[in-house]
Amino acid sequence: MSDTIAAIATPLAVGGISVIRISGENAISVADKVFKGFNKKPLCEYEGYSAGYGMILGNDNTQIDDGVALVFKAPRSYTGEDVVEISCHGGVFVTREVLRQVISCGARLAEAGEFTKRAFLNGKLSLTQAEAVMDLIGSKNTQSLRSARAQANGALFKRLENIKSELLNIAAHLSAWVDFPEEDIEVLEQGNLLASLQNAKQEVESLIKTFDSGKIIREGVQTAIVGKPNVGKSTLMNLLAGCEKSIVTDIAGTTRDVVEESVNIGNAFLRLADTAGIRQTDDVVERFGVERALERIKTAGLVLAVFDNSDSLTEQDKQIISAVKEDNTPSIAIINKTDLPKKIDEKYIKDNFKHIVYTSADNKESLNALSDEIQEVLKLNDIDTSNGIIANERQRICATGALEYLTEAIDTLTAGFTLDAVTVNIESAIECLLELSGQRVSEEVVNRVFHNFCVGK
Ligand code: GDP
Repeated sequence: MSDTIAAIATPLAVGGISVIRISGENAISVADKVFKGFNKKPLCEYEGYSAGYGMILGNDNTQIDDGVALVFKAPRSYTGEDVVEISCHGGVFVTREVLRQVISCGARLAEAGEFTKRAFLNGKLSLTQAEAVMDLIGSKNTQSLRSARAQANGALFKRLENIKSELLNIAAHLSAWVDFPEEDIEVLEQGNLLASLQNAKQEVESLIKTFDSGKIIREGVQTAIVGKPNVGKSTLMNLLAGCEKSIVTDIAGTTRDVVEESVNIGNAFLRLADTAGIRQTDDVVERFGVERALERIKTAGLVLAVFDNSDSLTEQDKQIISAVKEDNTPSIAIINKTDLPKKIDEKYIKDNFKHIVYTSADNKESLNALSDEIQEVLKLNDIDTSNGIIANERQRICATGALEYLTEAIDTLTAGFTLDAVTVNIESAIECLLELSGQRVSEEVVNRVFHNFCVGK
């Protein structure tokens, strides 16, 4: 039996409507004390999924607000418990007053993520689905929303189930052999076993690889726009952001600090950093910016290296090129100012960059070409989010654990060790996968996952 919790489920800000959510054994009776329907029918007589309009009353039966109460009956609710959601007018004070009243009628204030935690504990969601709920709330672009949606629908869970059932099959065969050692294991069967194990290992490996692409989708890719002063970095940044965010000027070296901006271009979510030009200078402020720019190349997930079509390549250009090459970060050369007569040594750029885009400030079409190149260089078109991806560090650690045990199982098998040693490794790999999906997970891990949620979710 769980106690009854309540929280404001909508943001605590002025809006049209606020929702106060109540969940637990006494959710409906608590709500009945606060909410009096104009139809005189108490909420305990409502069917699940039905709503009533009425008064929300304070301590001394004075009316706080009017609103709607929506009743969900266990187990057909988000948490799997009885739930009532009271919608009132969306003012900060009135919302707090309603919550206060709900608390004084017997509910307690919910902890962060406690509603979703209950949903998990009541088997409404797997742990990976619960985690996806947070990703869904946090998604900032179409790709990340799609990915979170697929996860919330259980894409990763299903993928894990397939790997697990293959491993369970293998483990069952192995136990049979271990239990009946007198039966000869046919060479062919051992070959099959190895193939199955390798197959499972491959599956886990490709799952782990989805972590990086998933991260790009969710968090965006840290993008550094670099180039010597005056090549058009700020102009490009503004073109990308669709608005004037950093100062564009004719005087070389005026972009002194790093300005941050996030943009969605095609399928890509870029976290942009407009950096000061790379230039050797005695100007202290400027040098600070230059150092930052070189630093940015090192930490960036994508470098847009801008060059001036109307100028020959200088030492600074070459310094940037070698810094980018040395780092091996996905990069695109942008030859800007194509409206002006060409002076640049294009061959030098072609020899050093696989991806080149030609732009000019007055040509918005060049953004399409840039968008295509970004998809290419980040391999965004290869990402299939509908198939389930590793979405966070916790999941990655579990999957990596499973991979290590599977590698050990294969090594043990090929080295000709006893089969029970192989079984132990496979069982450990299964344990890791069960922890990943949340089917066998410690309370501490569960608490840690839900601690990151917001109150009311
Ligand atoms: P940054 O120092 O690299 O950030 O360069 P800016 O973006 O401040 O641009 C420097 C100067 O070049 C400004 O006067 C821009 O208007 C100009 N500029 C930028 N892009 C182009 C372009 O494609 N063609 C021409 N003709 N001028 C450009």
